[in-house]
Amino acid sequence: EAKGQGRGRIVFFSQRLSDERRRHLLLSDCLSQAHSNGSLALHFQPIVAAQSQRLVAFEALLRWHCPSVGAVSPMEFIPIAEDTGHIHQIGLWVLRHAVQLIENLPPETGLRDNLKIAINTSIKQLIRADFAGEVLAVLNSSQITTSQLVIEVTESVFDEQHMREVLASLSRLHQAGIEIHLDDFGTGYSSLSRLREFPLDAIKIDRSFVMASDEKSLAVIEGAVVIARKFGLRVIAEGVETQAQLDKLKTLGVDELQGYFIGKPAADIKHFLEMNA
Ligand code: C2E
Ligand code: MG
Ligand code: MG
Ligand code: MG
Repeated sequence: EAKGQGRGRIVFFSQRLSDERRRHLLLSDCLSQAHSNGSLALHFQPIVAAQSQRLVAFEALLRWHCPSVGAVSPMEFIPIAEDTGHIHQIGLWVLRHAVQLIENLPPETGLRDNLKIAINTSIKQLIRADFAGEVLAVLNSSQITTSQLVIEVTESVFDEQHMREVLASLSRLHQAGIEIHLDDFGTGYSSLSRLREFPLDAIKIDRSFVMASDEKSLAVIEGAVVIARKFGLRVIAEGVETQAQLDKLKTLGVDELQGYFIGKPAADIKHFLEMNA
């Protein structure tokens, strides 16, 4: 009886593995068309100045509706796109559409010339030889200035193996006026000394620290603010879900806030533009 059960389990696990494999293959295949078949979309989440709560930027968050599978989270499909190399075309698609959001802002809002748009990038994009050139080419043929683009990178860019290529890309972009923000700060393997070596403008404190209310998480935020100040960096907090968190973060000296309490990512940004009034 136990033996029978054991066999059942083996069948169950191998079945599950092959389901995962099948899904992975299906998604990889589907991703090759994603940038050209209308299945990608961007949602935009507002980022506001902590003190005035005025709108300073939107973060572009990618959404994908795979025709044969349905909605797939970026947490699932971005790693696959990185493995298959589709991330390059998808990344360019994100950049072009993010730029369009700014270009299409109603002129009467006065936001076209100073609102920033943040895009997420993966290290795979950054180590591609002409990544910086491609980004600058898109901006050159657009109506937005380089200082309106923010490139968010994660602590994975500190990986020793790719340090030189990544630094070359980021330095070129930064020198051209593009802002570089370190996303999910505190979750990766950053050595604080890297903050000194990389051309950064801001750090985004990971939402796990914002959501936790224990003394230690607060100490991490407090410490990050102190270090950021010394390094001349701004601090952005992500994942702000309550008024209490917002108040706390303001007290701690965080510069900018993002989260469901401010606004959830949405395709239509019209209702966010009033945040500037
Ligand atoms: P991220 O860059 O750290 O983006 C923030 C994530 O937190 C988003 O999830 C957002 O919807 C979610 N979020 C924002 N405010 C709150 C809040 O108050 N509470 C909670 N619980 N969540 C909040 P999303 O859109 O599922 O994106 C997940 C991750 O996928 C992103 O994390 C980013 O690493 C990656 N990603 C998204 N779009 C792109 C892209 O265009 N390119 C690349 N390379 N990665 C992307
Ligand atoms: Mg991000
Ligand atoms: Mg983030
Ligand atoms: Mg995050």
